[in-house]
Amino acid sequence: METLQVAIVGAGPSGLYAAEAITGQDQYGYAVDVIDQLPTPFGLLRYGVAPDHLKIKSLAEKFQGIIDDPQVHFLGNVEVGRDITVDELRERYHAVIYAYGSASDRKLNIPGEDLPGCLSAREFVAWYSGYPDTSLPVDLDHPAVAVIGLGNVAVDVARILGLPAAELDYTDMPSYVLEALNASSVQAIHLLGRRGPLDVKFGLKEFRELTQCRGIGVHVDPADLVFTAAEQERIAGDRTLARLVDLLQELAVRPVDPTERQVYLDFWSTPTAVLGTDHVTGLEITDTRTKQVRRVEVAMVLKAAGYLGVPLPGLPFDERAAVVPSEEDRVLRDGQPSLGEYVTGWIGRGATGVIGVNRHHARNTIAALLADAPALLARERSGDALGLLRERGVAVVTEEGWSSIDAAEIALGATAGRARTKISSRLDLLATGTE
Ligand SMILES: Cc1cc2nc3c(=O)[nH]c(=O)nc-3n(C[C@H](O)[C@H](O)[C@H](O)COP(=O)(O)OP(=O)(O)OC[C@H]3O[C@@H](n4cnc5c(N)ncnc54)[C@H](O)[C@@H]3O)c2cc1C
Repeated sequence: METLQVAIVGAGPSGLYAAEAITGQDQYGYAVDVIDQLPTPFGLLRYGVAPDHLKIKSLAEKFQGIIDDPQVHFLGNVEVGRDITVDELRERYHAVIYAYGSASDRKLNIPGEDLPGCLSAREFVAWYSGYPDTSLPVDLDHPAVAVIGLGNVAVDVARILGLPAAELDYTDMPSYVLEALNASSVQAIHLLGRRGPLDVKFGLKEFRELTQCRGIGVHVDPADLVFTAAEQERIAGDRTLARLVDLLQELAVRPVDPTERQVYLDFWSTPTAVLGTDHVTGLEITDTRTKQVRRVEVAMVLKAAGYLGVPLPGLPFDERAAVVPSEEDRVLRDGQPSLGEYVTGWIGRGATGVIGVNRHHARNTIAALLADAPALLARERSGDALGLLRERGVAVVTEEGWSSIDAAEIALGATAGRARTKISSRLDLLATGTE
């Protein structure tokens, strides 16, 4: 049986689901290298999914099973485009699958956006998830925060900011994160959405969870729950929307408990300026219906307007859609499918979709690759990537190195009675994960 040599760029859910789809077929032998710039696998499952969402976090065990396949190798701490080029990968493998996710975010393009204290939810999530070498981008020593966006990431951020730190004690957050959350003075969290309650992006389940958290009160202005006849018809025809409206109506009459942190849903609100001279002091908000302008005092603005893909040197990029251009998951170079190059996950279709969606996508990507396999196997190949990286002095974290990191994190967690505590310094990760 002929062996397909495949490189996957990105060890997040998409890359690992692509590896799974290769290991699950029996037409060809395979040798798969899953390369990640981080010393650790699992991408946003480790550094995006909220630390208190244990059920989804437990998918890590399933992904670990994919890495444990003897023909699948993890090459961590290797940044494609810096440590090894796209062309060097193409020379060494029959196929390269790009699964490198979305490492940037949407801008608001409003004055004051670059002031200290205004940052993306992505940066804040990275901080509380212990992403290597991310320091607290702002302090939490202020009573009010604005979060721009009404999607699931905004809800996650509001929950982490709102929960008493003791409620997060059992998670894998680094201890300095828990200490900072414990010392937080934040009392009010404004969630801003440019449209009304019928057009929120968050899921009902995720929002309901926020409303049920101990220590968090959620407020809705009853005036925002007056609907036109057409809207009422829309609500009546959509069970999920009807349940959301029921929940919002219940929240609108719920008495305020002053001992709780308060989350305000500010519908029909768009930020038009971040205020301050050397740090954020407030936000100018315009009502999207009446155009009336108001100001709220906040010391931190978190933009949760969506993640965005970034270009990889040597690979085509569609700037408008912020994805690698593709047709049926084959990378397009000069408008033509490039033999041996594929995309999957967020970098292929844009930063949307929960983890399970990537599995379906990865299966389609591998179906395209397998259809091309006879032509791929006929391609000339030479050299091995690990050898080249070692020659260059790159401190590669292999699957054994990752196992050592994993064990060290579990041991660190045990010292505090937790299942795991993440190591967040890249130097410490490398000291544990490399020979
Ligand atoms: C804040 C947040 C919370 C979420 N919560 C949930 C949830 O609760 N449930 C759910 O189902 N989904 C959730 N999602 C969605 C889920 O995380 C995504 O569907 C999934 O992670 C996308 O997978 P991916 O592999 O395409 O990208 P990623 O997970 O981003 O993985 C990409 C990988 O590529 C690596 N990489 C990037 N550039 C390079 C390079 N140049 N060289 C080498 N490696 C590189 C990155 O380090 C990363 O490990 C959440 C997303 C976010 C942002």
